[in-house]
Amino acid sequence: MTTPPARLLIKNGTLIDGSGRGPVPNALVVVEGNRITHVSPREGSMRPESPDDKVIDAAGKFILPGLIDAHCHISLHQGALPGVKYTSSAEFCTLWAAHGIGRVLRAGVTSITVPGGKWFTDVTVREAVEGGLLEGPRMVVAARALSNYGGIFDPDPYPAYEGTPNDAAGVLCNTRDEFIRETRKQCKRGVDLIKIADSIWGDIQTVAKDEISAVVDEAHRHNVKVAIHSRGSTSTRAAAEAGVDLIYHGDWASEADLDIVAKAAIPIAPVLTSPWIGVEQGAAGRSLGERARDRLRAQLDTSFQMIRNARDRGIPILSGSDTGNASAFTHGRWHGKEAKLFVREIGMTPMEAIVANTSGNAWLLNLDGEVGVIAPGKLADIVIWDSDPIADIAVLQRPAEISRIIKDGRIVDRDAGGLLPLPEEPPRARIFVSG
Ligand SMILES: [Zn+2]
Repeated sequence: MTTPPARLLIKNGTLIDGSGRGPVPNALVVVEGNRITHVSPREGSMRPESPDDKVIDAAGKFILPGLIDAHCHISLHQGALPGVKYTSSAEFCTLWAAHGIGRVLRAGVTSITVPGGKWFTDVTVREAVEGGLLEGPRMVVAARALSNYGGIFDPDPYPAYEGTPNDAAGVLCNTRDEFIRETRKQCKRGVDLIKIADSIWGDIQTVAKDEISAVVDEAHRHNVKVAIHSRGSTSTRAAAEAGVDLIYHGDWASEADLDIVAKAAIPIAPVLTSPWIGVEQGAAGRSLGERARDRLRAQLDTSFQMIRNARDRGIPILSGSDTGNASAFTHGRWHGKEAKLFVREIGMTPMEAIVANTSGNAWLLNLDGEVGVIAPGKLADIVIWDSDPIADIAVLQRPAEISRIIKDGRIVDRDAGGLLPLPEEPPRARIFVSG
């Protein structure tokens, strides 16, 4: 990363601004500090170019907002690394996350929502990025997912009495009070999002509506959003009635369930990429058993129809990849895949898929109207692509076709490996006064 120039001029490229407006050829985008100050097909009344300006000639290229991934884990790690004895320790998870976010940013993803992780690693890594210690995308983070007996984080074949270890991505909450206590604890530690996790496949509902309501009440008093992993019909309906902010998956939601979701104006992030990887690639580099593959395939077909039904009702569809959920979901590799599936399987236009991956996801970052669109006054998160994603939406999953990445007005040095120049003044230690 370099010191931000007085002005950054991006000239001659085709602008796809993230609002859904059609492409604008020969656009000029001006960045001052960390904001976009001018966007036009012509220079108009703008102060003339000066030798101090940093100019990027984007002729033949495509200027888009930075991508936003609504489902990207950074501290989960489910693979072995040679020489590392405890890959689930808080220390290793932190290093893993710090490494992963650089790869995410270099894939053109300038903002992520992290719906769950280990320890409080994700909060700390977010703070390190905000504090300028690490280079990475903007982040909204949850901590360990709140789950109960029979839920996704109390999986078979382990019997419930064994409990859930401290290094798991979920924390057991088996009463309403335990849900409230964990929510309070996570809010105090600085999460932006509470993640509730129902059953793994959605065939049963493990979290009661009353418990979801209690979490929503507690989190909202702390200005923290609530998301739920809900694949089932009744769990999705209960979540909508309890007033969660976001439903992840929603596979088995019936049309009647979706009516309730639509009435509550709650978005759904289906996260098709992870089952797709499971079906097409096999999890963790191994081919899945036939039964698991068939189950994922059926789940995907159900999800595709659910999303079409949701879109018919005006339910916003957010785009997330589930990157980082397992070692096969490599950071930086899969972020653009959801857009391709939205176009090929759901019937979105490429422009709708671009909006879903940019301005449509900004709300979840608490930055609605600030990121995801290239317009005067917005934060300068911009990616310049070599090829046209309207002609081929799969461009978004090819980081090799990125010409430049600008995050918060700074050009990302893609060779720097995430190392930032040292701050001029070392950060001062905070002094704690007790009593
Ligand atoms: Zn996930």
